[in-house]
Order: sequence, then C-alpha cells, then structure tokens
Amino acid sequence: MQTFDTLLREAELAHGHLCAGQILGVRLAMLGCERLGIDDPKGLVNPKDRKRLVTFIEIDRCATDAIAVVTGCRLGKRAIKFRDWGKMAATFVDLASPLRKDGDTPIYKAIRIAALESSKQRARDLYPQIENKNQQQMLAYRELPNADLFSEEWVAVPIHPREMPGYKSARITCELCGEGINYDREIHRDGKTLCEACAAPETRYYRPLTQEELSENSEAGAETSPQPAH
Ligand SMILES: [Zn+2]
Ligand SMILES: [Zn+2]
Repeated sequence: MQTFDTLLREAELAHGHLCAGQILGVRLAMLGCERLGIDDPKGLVNPKDRKRLVTFIEIDRCATDAIAVVTGCRLGKRAIKFRDWGKMAATFVDLASPLRKDGDTPIYKAIRIAALESSKQRARDLYPQIENKNQQQMLAYRELPNADLFSEEWVAVPIHPREMPGYKSARITCELCGEGINYDREIHRDGKTLCEACAAPETRYYRPLTQEELSENSEAGAETSPQPAH
C-alpha cells in the first residue's frame, strides 16, 4: 500500500486543496482496502490487484475525491457507483471471488465503512485549544485510531454483469429523441424503445428554456444560440 502521506499528497492535488475531508477519505479508503486484503488497489506493483475493486460512495463531498485517489476507482471507468444518500460512507466490493450467484447476478463480499458522528467530538476532545474546526479535525483525523473514526460492517453486494466495468452493451437509439443509449438503460413502453428522459419526462433533471426565458436572459445567449427548432 502507498503510504498515508503519499496518498494524502495525491488527494490534495486531485481535489485542489487539503482539508479534513481528504484526510478522513484517505483513511476510510485505506481501511477498506486493508480489510479486503487488497494491498495495491491501483496495481502499481502487482497488476493482479488492479480492477479488483468497485466502490460505492454515498456522498459527493471532499472525501469522495480522496477515496478515488486511494482506490484508483473512477466514475468514468464504472468502478465508482455513486449513491446520493448524503452519508459519509463507502462500500468496497472485492470482485476477486463472488460469494455466490443469484440467477445471472454474482453477489460479492464487501466492507462498508461509515464515518462516526462522534468523530467530530473526538477531534474537539483531542485539540480543544484549536478553534478552527477544519484545522482541529485535520490534526485529529490523522491521529485518532480507526475505531474512533469509523464503523465497519461486512456486507454482500449484488452487481449485475451490465453494471460491471468493461461491460460491452449494444447501442440502442431512442425512438423519440434519436439519442443513443448505452448499458441497457432503454425502456420499452407501448411497443416503443425509449430513453429514460423520453419514457419518464417528469423525472428529467432539466427542461428546455422557454422563449421568454431565452429572451429575458441575454446571458443565456438568446441571439447567439437560439433554441433549435424541432
Ligand atoms: Zn475539501
Ligand atoms: Zn429519448
């Protein structure tokens, strides 16, 4: 395993600054790898360990970047699964040997690690003289034992082959918008093959700007980029 200081330095570079979240994230991910017996998750020395991990992360904050740095898991490689639960927790899934299969879906052994709510108080107890919370936690989170920072639980995680890194899927075209859909995310409805956005417009995270909004806000570039005609 790379040392804590090396990983923290890499995390600082990746994240843009050093903060308590980086320190907590590096330690959380190092602990996850250690529990799974994965010494070299990025396969720097031992290529056998590379691609052995999928990491579920339950928050998109500072620690998220640190966890990616330690594990080598990347969203763009499908090795990070983001669950937007707003919780400082991550689950490290060892792909090396599935426990068993449920139909087509292998079930893997994994360790879920969550930051303890009491860790902030532990930091206060350790460095009461430091008023700045971030400074206080940065120092304390380096030193406190794992048991003071994290809870751990062994869990089983099913991962369907289509969710795995490297899965090759057919590219399907949405019959309504004409955009391509990967990874079997198409939806069949009333004899049509549709993308998520067309099948369930109410769940879209966006809507087209109206003509009024376009002309109201010249920043949106009403003149330079008018709403394309359909
Ligand atoms: Zn940060
Ligand atoms: Zn569509």
